[in-house]
Amino acid sequence: MIVTTKVQDMQTMMQQYRLEGKTIGFVPTMGYLHEGHVALIKKAREENDIVALSVFVNPLQFGPNEDFARYPRDIERDERIAKENGVDVFFCPSVEEMYPRPLSVQVVVKERVDVLCGKSRPGHFDGVATVLTKLFHIVMPTRAYFGMKDAQQVAVVDGLIRDFHFPIELVAVPTVREEDGLAKSSRNIYLSPEERKEAPALYQALQRAKQAIENGERHPETVCALVKDYIQANTSAEIDYVEIYAYPELKPLEKLRGKVIIAVAVRFANARLIDNIVMDVK
Ligand code: AMP
Repeated sequence: MIVTTKVQDMQTMMQQYRLEGKTIGFVPTMGYLHEGHVALIKKAREENDIVALSVFVNPLQFGPNEDFARYPRDIERDERIAKENGVDVFFCPSVEEMYPRPLSVQVVVKERVDVLCGKSRPGHFDGVATVLTKLFHIVMPTRAYFGMKDAQQVAVVDGLIRDFHFPIELVAVPTVREEDGLAKSSRNIYLSPEERKEAPALYQALQRAKQAIENGERHPETVCALVKDYIQANTSAEIDYVEIYAYPELKPLEKLRGKVIIAVAVRFANARLIDNIVMDVK
């Protein structure tokens, strides 16, 4: 595995692979790798000649009161996990390397961000789209891999790729969960033992919502109320949102029909957790 921290080296290397006719699978991450990330790496490994992984905690996508400074980092462990899972190129630039001067141009996301995390984290997806635009130009991947755990991110990246004509195939990978259903996340380490016991209630609530829809419920408000009640009854977390939209458009529905996302975000004392399920409603 080649490890580099330099934009120029990375770009030259990736250009060479492209000239050799190799396909490149790219997995962008913020590191502190877990099995969710590994699922993306494995999928990229299956589908491409070269797998490139980036580890970069992007300050641009964190709000002033968010967890940029204390976001968990362990680059040596990340390198080991990447190598064990067949990554060819490991790119871990510093903030100064990625942003050597104040940006003179920034990407602003206009669709699919007035709801869910876009609403509760203003500017977050502008930061994501800006860093991905940079990373796509550095890595020049054939395919880019994203997790459905961050379903709104997938919807935003879909727009970015299409609007800016990136010749990249977006691959969305299902959410990897702990045995008790909690979605794997680098932020799960912030949970106290008590909160960790409560946290699977998010997925249980989503499963109940799914069941209700399968049993014929079609009113978004009724389904949201069911999810909220379950989370309130079973956790100490404060609910940030519980919402249902058409997916990937993220537009409200009067009656549930077609592909829909049921998404939740909650705040525990030191961790904001998100989860969702996407389902087809007949
Ligand atoms: P992060 O390091 O949190 O920015 O995540 C990097 C990528 O891994 C994103 O595309 C995430 O959606 C994806 N990811 C994170 N957690 C999971 C998970 N539990 N299952 C599947 N993908 C995930």
